[in-house]
Amino acid sequence: MMDRALHICSVIFLFVCASVAFAAEKTSLFTISPQATELLPVVFVTSCQTATIQIPVLDTKGDVYKTEGANDPLIYDSTIGHKKVIMLYADFSDAVMKVDTKERGKGVLGNGTFQKLFHEQSYGKMTVEIEHVHGWRRLSKSAGKYSSKTTDSHRELFVEIFNLFPKIDFLAYDYIMVNMPRIGNTAFGERDEIAIPYKGNKINVALNISSGSPYVLAHETAHLMGLPDLYTYGGVEGPKNPTGPWDIMSSAGRASGFLGWHRHKFGWLDANRKTYIASGTHRLKLTPLNASSGVSMIIIPVDDPVKPSKVFVVEISQPIRSKGKVQNSGGVLVYSVDAKLASGQNPVVVYPKADLLKAPFQPDDRFDHKDAPMSIKVLKKNGDGSCLIEVKVN
Ligand SMILES: [Zn+2]
Repeated sequence: MMDRALHICSVIFLFVCASVAFAAEKTSLFTISPQATELLPVVFVTSCQTATIQIPVLDTKGDVYKTEGANDPLIYDSTIGHKKVIMLYADFSDAVMKVDTKERGKGVLGNGTFQKLFHEQSYGKMTVEIEHVHGWRRLSKSAGKYSSKTTDSHRELFVEIFNLFPKIDFLAYDYIMVNMPRIGNTAFGERDEIAIPYKGNKINVALNISSGSPYVLAHETAHLMGLPDLYTYGGVEGPKNPTGPWDIMSSAGRASGFLGWHRHKFGWLDANRKTYIASGTHRLKLTPLNASSGVSMIIIPVDDPVKPSKVFVVEISQPIRSKGKVQNSGGVLVYSVDAKLASGQNPVVVYPKADLLKAPFQPDDRFDHKDAPMSIKVLKKNGDGSCLIEVKVN
């Protein structure tokens, strides 16, 4: 779904700063409604600093599995609102789980870390309610007879799991999560043709988890919400794991949350927290994504500004985790997002200052790269983690 066409602040920005960030004549983005014009003097007094201009939906230029563009509505539901989750426990005769399922459930949810993560990252727009079906149910064959490596074997596994719980109506839940040893951590997400058959219907998304980490569970859950893997696989040329520790889809071991782009894709980041710049030189204050207001993400198109398939994103980096502790090395993080690339094919690439662990740019640093449509100067870093930057679109 598109974001609101034009935030009122951007109207003011256009008038006050005379900054034309986008080819207005090509689109109706700058059409100012009579109401907006009337509001202008009132809002002007509130000193809005930055334009917040609609970010176009990215053009995938074809059918891309788990694109960074808009979610496939034939697989994924809305990522906003109250989500009902059912958590199951299943094991095998040759991999018997001894731990109590209550203990296991608490552990994999990190005593509420999982629910808190989605609540905070979504600015309260997504809440998760988890219902447990306690006790380990036993699958009919030994663990080695099952696999989640192909869509067919994964689907068959879920068909048998659902049959183990005849009294449950799985259609009543947004997400189905199965704690299970040996099968790894795998998310199923397919259109009806190859989805999981269930009581004359189809179930499009479900996950199984062997790990006891709430961040691994968050990674798999985000797949059920449409996000791709940001670590690299499938013989891709170019960098390996180019997002490093900066997103849960790249590193469930180090990241503390989702990149601004993902919060945008999920519909969590409000229109006045992000802006789209296609030309000119701009001075902007970037506030951390975890703050409750301010512009936190800037998008610059690489190709067609009206219908880009690839963009660059600039935001304040989020803390990374290390040995259970959070390290805040906040600075300006720069990355590309390409909607044409599928899961595992490097749809997101961070352009680091040094190595990926020291990716954020700091005051007096400049970012300039042949791949990028803009250059950036970091002018100042404030005590609240916000940074003043200058963006020059080439
Ligand atoms: Zn994954």
